[in-house]
Amino acid sequence: MTKTRKPIPNDIAAEVLFQADNTCCVCRGREKTVQIHHIDENPSHNVFENLAVLCLECHNKTLIKGGFGRQLTSHVITKYRDEWSKDVKSRRSLANRKAVEGQVGEVSLSEELETKPGVQSSEQPQLKQPPIDYINSLPTFRSALQQQAQPKRDTGITSEMVQANYDYIDSLTGILVMLADYYSPKQFGDQSPQEFFSEVIASRFRWHYSVAEPHGPATGGTIVRILCSSSVALDVEKMIEDMIFALVGFNDDFDWDNWKKLWSNNT
Ligand SMILES: [Zn+2]
Repeated sequence: MTKTRKPIPNDIAAEVLFQADNTCCVCRGREKTVQIHHIDENPSHNVFENLAVLCLECHNKTLIKGGFGRQLTSHVITKYRDEWSKDVKSRRSLANRKAVEGQVGEVSLSEELETKPGVQSSEQPQLKQPPIDYINSLPTFRSALQQQAQPKRDTGITSEMVQANYDYIDSLTGILVMLADYYSPKQFGDQSPQEFFSEVIASRFRWHYSVAEPHGPATGGTIVRILCSSSVALDVEKMIEDMIFALVGFNDDFDWDNWKKLWSNNT
């Protein structure tokens, strides 16, 4: 019996992808091309609870039957999906808190609520100006994030080195989200800035991964994963630079050239 496929409504698809950070919930490889999988295998059952983001490889594992059974059962996928979305949520919240504080150490949520410059009152019709002190502190913050990533990068173990880059990218994304607060509310479309950046960064991962292996997937070895995540980190650094330039680059009281030098040279 064939089941008819009804397209997943856009808003549901967007939310599923956002909660998974456009990333496969099983292998969590950010460079993989993903699709939305129906957990119960009914392609018309488009409710949120029935949908999970999988890469093509992991999706194939749901199709392997026989022997000891499927490698990925619906029960297992649901578990992966729930754990991953919880993880994404806490990573985002931590990165956003760090970005607000401009420091790598732990910050408490109550502090965040009191100090977050992004909290906008509804009576504020004018766009806020980002605090110059905060912007001037970003090169040092970036340098601290790099230092934090160094021990994992020094292990020489691919998975650790890639994770160090993922963590670094997450922290930088917190800065992007923070800076987006100084743009007009609909600047990034109907999506929230966090959704917008999640998509842009996922697409950068796929770009670097696609072009890195001219002879086909997995022909470049595991080093490709390190190179791709390093390249995305550079992309996100440039995105922050572009936003700073747009927001304050022309301000008389801001030394853009010096900021750019510190941001680019600081490691
Ligand atoms: Zn996967």
